[in-house]
Amino acid sequence: MAIKQLSSLMSLAFMTLMSSAVSAQTRPEDTEVWKPVPPVVAPAAVSGGAPSDAIVLFNGRDLDQWVTAADKSPAGWTVADGVITVDKARGNIETRRTFRDYQLHLEWRIPADIAGSGQGRGNSGVFLASTGLRDEGYEVQILDSYQSATYVNGQAGAVYKQHPPLANANRKPGEWQTYDIVWRAPVFGPDGALTRPASVTVLHNGVLVQDTAVLAGETVYIGKARYKAHGPSPIKLQAHGDPSAPISFRNIWVRELSPR
Ligand code: MG
Repeated sequence: MAIKQLSSLMSLAFMTLMSSAVSAQTRPEDTEVWKPVPPVVAPAAVSGGAPSDAIVLFNGRDLDQWVTAADKSPAGWTVADGVITVDKARGNIETRRTFRDYQLHLEWRIPADIAGSGQGRGNSGVFLASTGLRDEGYEVQILDSYQSATYVNGQAGAVYKQHPPLANANRKPGEWQTYDIVWRAPVFGPDGALTRPASVTVLHNGVLVQDTAVLAGETVYIGKARYKAHGPSPIKLQAHGDPSAPISFRNIWVRELSPR
């Protein structure tokens, strides 16, 4: 058979196949889904505000939703002018409530007159699940990384010592910055063995810096990350021991998500 004839036969066969695939779905309605209807969530009037189904963790007035991580006494950080400022002497604070999977919004500000360098320059952090009295858990780093170098898996937006941020989206010290985080907690079997690792997505000032990053375990300062089984856990904010001036937080809210 001549090559030309073979080629036109093959084209004919292909066209026949394509037309039968199209005819199998004859109506647009065949691919429409009507149920279940997604729940109505009223968005905030202003961008960054709490939607109607959010749990407000800081309303600008008090720390009622928070306790001292070390002893569960009322949180003693400073609240003034609608803003929380870290009290380093009082240590980490964490939420009274516990959470599994969630969407979290928080805003933080490095002092305009921040001094120091590297990890000693406005260091704090948000632990997505607190698993101990001190820095145990899974930390997304907060730090002045505007024009200040450190190890990249320890700069702002890093999953500490595990994933550097995909971009440096820092604003300069003195300006408010936002984190919007989607946290999928690790899943453990009845025997305590890990069945699904944690993952996290982070937008820093609206810029994607962690894209469903999978965690190797809890974030640790020294050594290799590993998991230990835990259930729903508090969200914790870090009072880092470096000597630089304390940072501030505002507008913190969370939306619980159904486990996947
Ligand atoms: Mg930190």
